[in-house]
Amino acid sequence: MKKDIRSLYYEELEKEIRDMGEKPFRAKQIYEWLHVRLEDHFDEMTNLSKKFREQLAEEYEIFPVQMLERQVSKLDGTNKFLFRLYDDNVVESVLMKYKHGNSVCISSQAGCRMGCAFCASTIGGLQRNLTASEMLGQVYQIQKITGERVSNVVVMGTGEPLDNYDNFLRFIRLLTDERGLNISQRSMTVSTCGIVPGIRKLAQEKLQITLALSLHGSTQEKRRRLMPVANKYDFSEVLSACDEYFEKTGRRVTFEYSLVHGVNDTEEDIRELTAILKPRNCHLNLIPVNPVRERDFVRPSRENALNFKNKLEKSGINVTIRREMGSDIDGACGQLRRRYAEGGEALPPAKDSI
Ligand code: SAH
Repeated sequence: MKKDIRSLYYEELEKEIRDMGEKPFRAKQIYEWLHVRLEDHFDEMTNLSKKFREQLAEEYEIFPVQMLERQVSKLDGTNKFLFRLYDDNVVESVLMKYKHGNSVCISSQAGCRMGCAFCASTIGGLQRNLTASEMLGQVYQIQKITGERVSNVVVMGTGEPLDNYDNFLRFIRLLTDERGLNISQRSMTVSTCGIVPGIRKLAQEKLQITLALSLHGSTQEKRRRLMPVANKYDFSEVLSACDEYFEKTGRRVTFEYSLVHGVNDTEEDIRELTAILKPRNCHLNLIPVNPVRERDFVRPSRENALNFKNKLEKSGINVTIRREMGSDIDGACGQLRRRYAEGGEALPPAKDSI
């Protein structure tokens, strides 16, 4: 297979171009085409000679993601995209429009092997990891298709980013590179189900991105019921990895908590959550669970969710309920992709599950 040129760091590209016998400033031009002008074809890189463009096309490939479907919410302008990858795998991404700017939610894997009980993305298992260029491609295509500047990126779509650590890190570094789209690290959030070694490693990278930890239960037992990953990493280890992330980066950790009626929204849960979060400098984001056809979890009423939030607030927790965006278009994360898979266009067989 040809080399994936858009996954290369600037310095790596420079070395490759030098090895081809070209001047280093050519690397600067190519990098700008790939990461600023968001060009997907060597042919269009008009400040390079035709011969050099042909040479590039022989050795490298750009692997752009290709839009299959776009849904636009009439309620709030949220856009949902289904993208095809070079091997016919599909992933979904979302553009959300807020007052403070445009936020894009990207997928980090095609499918997922984490098996969380309420999540649609994991139902068909993991197909494969996404490359850095395929993660970048989602942001780049959305910016090109909509013509709108993307200011925030959240890695909260399908997949577990820390289960695809190296590609994910490369993606972050490329997207926040000042020679590229130059998105600020503080405008980026990565969400993890709690892969402890990944969190600890990320804490060492000297990045300023926000860590979001999917909590969903406030004891080892309760997390285990919803998240198989809790069998692998004990709750106390997960919390101490989050503490380390805060100590090393100074970035306040966000805890995500999908509220499932009758499962994790009781008075006891409020007490346990308070005990865990009160001593920490953190933020809690409540997500009333999105019903997924294949699962029978029930979303609490608006009133119950508000009650849950208010009680936590009273006990001194910094808490919000996540605003629901695009509720008139394919609901929960991963549902658009699943609908596509069920439409007869079979996905390749899944790899192992956790
Ligand atoms: N693998 C990452 C990213 C997953 S999606 C992680 O686990 O954090 C981002 C968030 O949405 C996670 O907190 C996930 O648990 C949650 N989520 C997934 N399906 C959901 C659903 N049907 N309803 C509410 N939240 C859901």
